Amino acid sequence: LHPEDSLARALRRVAAEHPRRTFLTYFDGRLTYREADRLSDSVAGHLAARGVRRGDRVAVLLQNSPHFVLAVLGAWKAGAVVVPVNPMYKSGEVGHVLRDSEAVALICSDRAWESYLRETAADSPVTCVLTACELDFQTRGDPRVLSFERLPRAAGTDDLTEAARAGHAAPEDRDPAPGDTALISYTSGTSGAPKGATNTHRNVMYNAERQRTGLALPEAPVYFALAPLFHITGMVCQLGACLNSAGNLVLVHRFEPGVVLDAFAEHRPHYTVGPSTAFMALAAHPDVTRAHFASFTNISSGGAPLPPALVEKFRAGFGPYLRNGYGLTECTAPCAAVPPHLEAPVDPVSGTLAVGVPGPETVVRIVDDLGAEVPFGEQGEIVVSGPQVVPGYWRRPDATAETFPGGELRTGDIGFMDAQGWLYVVDRKKDMINASGFKVWPREVEDVLYTHPAVREAAVVGVPDEYRGETVKAYISLRPGAGTEPDALAAYCKERLAAYKYPRQVEILPELPKTASGKILRRELRSRTTHD
Ligand code: ATP
Repeated sequence: LHPEDSLARALRRVAAEHPRRTFLTYFDGRLTYREADRLSDSVAGHLAARGVRRGDRVAVLLQNSPHFVLAVLGAWKAGAVVVPVNPMYKSGEVGHVLRDSEAVALICSDRAWESYLRETAADSPVTCVLTACELDFQTRGDPRVLSFERLPRAAGTDDLTEAARAGHAAPEDRDPAPGDTALISYTSGTSGAPKGATNTHRNVMYNAERQRTGLALPEAPVYFALAPLFHITGMVCQLGACLNSAGNLVLVHRFEPGVVLDAFAEHRPHYTVGPSTAFMALAAHPDVTRAHFASFTNISSGGAPLPPALVEKFRAGFGPYLRNGYGLTECTAPCAAVPPHLEAPVDPVSGTLAVGVPGPETVVRIVDDLGAEVPFGEQGEIVVSGPQVVPGYWRRPDATAETFPGGELRTGDIGFMDAQGWLYVVDRKKDMINASGFKVWPREVEDVLYTHPAVREAAVVGVPDEYRGETVKAYISLRPGAGTEPDALAAYCKERLAAYKYPRQVEILPELPKTASGKILRRELRSRTTHD
């Protein structure tokens, strides 16, 4: 464990050691470590003054921005549990999270508050609301809404003096213990109603520290936040790792390929991590060049399948090697990754790229339906134990017992391990397609589709079929300017896959539906087929 046992303490330490060092960069504005420390103290003071106690839940619903970071660190300094809320959620989903977590405070943008959250929060335990406008924090008319201190757009000490004069000191003796819950992270719901995984401060610090030490980055590295911070990957692998290495976190408020490429050119980051779909979008942008990636020491792709064809396209086109990593919300982001000095092998039989090797102190086992371990090379469910695995789900003893028997995490992913210890993820157990009794894993078909030059994104699902029970259907989006026909794509796969695996139906869409963290939603595509 890192000497500090929480990210709030890490911030205090870095602010004391390197007060003037830039912590957050946001468009043309920046915040130093000292500024962020004082402003988050002030947020903690506001929350405590409004009755937030140790262990209370504070929901944060903001896009990537310094406001998000100050809200989270401020809530931790007030001893609270942070509930990051997906900004893409609709009112009903936010309402579920607020009620399920029993959040007493909500921090959000004033626009979201005015447009729908005021109504949503009316039917929830929330009694304290802090709003943030895009660049300044303003006081609202609503008596429940408090303001942050003004956020300086550029470096300067005047605003700090103002914040300090406001007298919002962080409450004392609220620092969390390592076993306390840091986050209630609602799973993105690709497999059902969102459940809250309870990531402890120990879980968060362990993986944030692994990200720092496992990457061979230079001193005071520049991180680029490609993944959303509300998602565990953004929170731990970007914000957490950056704080632990006293680095600079570059933020843009949401993922737009052109804006991201401009920010790469301007801020010259050393490291970023995001879902493979983000790298597909960057690779397909008309203005992308090798120079955009020249500053990177390391790039990780995690949280979604990484097609081997994308790794090759990226290296040949832009230089960097896309490093795979595997994780879940329930294990606080990664539990396996490709070490910096190695490259992931591709399984010669299935063509799957390895996701990495389990981290130190992490045990990954592959088990059959009865829970018995299977030999190397054989497929089974991936189960994980280690210091990053959460103790369970928030107030869901049944789901906790089912997913964490004996403290081990049953991932619901099918995979295998080779004799050298590389882990491969075949697919999600529930996404298996049963075509006339033959097992088809969508990933294998998608990996073939990604080798086609016209394909930008591919998602394969099982659809009902009178004769086969289920048949394979592929949804595709094309690279800009590329043209091809569904039949040509089906024929391309037929040449490369067994007859029962190739997609008998192919549909081309302008864009595939994705979660806010960038994962393609096969579930939505399946229900689209059912409704057709
Ligand atoms: P829910 O749990 O509600 O279905 P979700 O799947 O989006 O939502 P996350 O915890 O964000 O929840 O995602 C974890 C899943 O992402 C893993 O179980 C696995 O299926 C997939 N995944 C993560 N990393 C990789 C990877 N490198 N390769 C393949 N799949 C991956």
